[in-house]
Amino acid sequence: MVFAAELAGLGDIAAAAVAMGFAGIAGSMTTGQLRAALKAMVLWLDPAAARRRMEQGRAQARVEAWPEGSGNAGLAGRELPAADAVADKRITAIARALKDAGAPGTLDQLRAAVFVALLAGRDPETLLPPSPGQHDQADGESEPDRNPAGPGAPGDGPGGSGATGPAGSGGPGPGGLGSLTGTVHLVMPAAAWLGLSDAPGEAAGSGPLDAWTCRDLAARLAAGPGTRWQVTLTGPDGRAVAHATPRAGPGPPGQPRGGRDWLAGLRFDRLEHRTCSHRRQTPRYQPPDRLQNLIRARQRTCSFPGCRRPATRCDLDHTLAYDQGGPTCECNLSPLCRRHHRTKQAGGWNLTQPEPGVLVWATPHGRTYTVTPDPYLV
Ligand SMILES: [Zn+2]
Ligand SMILES: [Zn+2]
Repeated sequence: MVFAAELAGLGDIAAAAVAMGFAGIAGSMTTGQLRAALKAMVLWLDPAAARRRMEQGRAQARVEAWPEGSGNAGLAGRELPAADAVADKRITAIARALKDAGAPGTLDQLRAAVFVALLAGRDPETLLPPSPGQHDQADGESEPDRNPAGPGAPGDGPGGSGATGPAGSGGPGPGGLGSLTGTVHLVMPAAAWLGLSDAPGEAAGSGPLDAWTCRDLAARLAAGPGTRWQVTLTGPDGRAVAHATPRAGPGPPGQPRGGRDWLAGLRFDRLEHRTCSHRRQTPRYQPPDRLQNLIRARQRTCSFPGCRRPATRCDLDHTLAYDQGGPTCECNLSPLCRRHHRTKQAGGWNLTQPEPGVLVWATPHGRTYTVTPDPYLV
């Protein structure tokens, strides 16, 4: 069903070729992984067709409102430009900040409340419970982290959380929660940035994006104040081999000359391969930013088999625990989402990293699964 749905837009020969290419490895992928890989392959094979389909869909852009069966109401924007996904990240950033500040409800419930508040022109801060200073009864629940100046003030918890990230991040501003912009982690081939190819990219959590959407999104991010840049060099097999974190970006997308000079001036760190030289090992528990960037460039998702949680939203786990002598080094760190971090700690599971980036899981039933980093599509 996944093959049929994702390859429907290709001609028969191209569809058969892609299906043949993926038949061997499809069995080792989850349907989510297979869907994302096929989507990216279709974008790569026929980017113009994908774009035409998108533009046709764009003509149907609309806002839909309908009564839910439960008696509640539904409200959704349909066929919006994919680059407008930024709005969704902003909703999440504000909802997360509210949750951290003690607003009741799940993240989904808070996202829904923020969505409506923003559309209705209400300040999302009205969703916060009254702060302790605002009423007299002492309820015994002290909130030592709360900045007396109120939410959104510099140094306040809510404003700072959920808003830092590798690209397009917005920190707390003078406007409080409403000024949070959310984080978009966009990965695209340098050649597509330069306008030399229309190879697809991806946004963490949203999946593959065509080159036009990537450039559109990139242009918006490049103009933003909190944007951070990372450049990953890949080998012929699509795996990360080296990484750089330039201070400034390459200028607007679609300009080959300036972009090439920018790339040529970067200093790259080579990733450890097979046998680790431990040259970036640190005695501290917490890996420095540079090491964290390398690990997340090597592995873009959680290291549990089939988990697609973006590494940007994962903790870096010491494969062999730090207090058992596990080094803080490329050969002993990998991203794990909170859920699979707990899985690892549950009885019967065993995780090893025989070479940098290769994770071997042994289940309580004695099976083993080897997880290698997802290749980049370049
Ligand atoms: Zn090492
Ligand atoms: Zn996971």
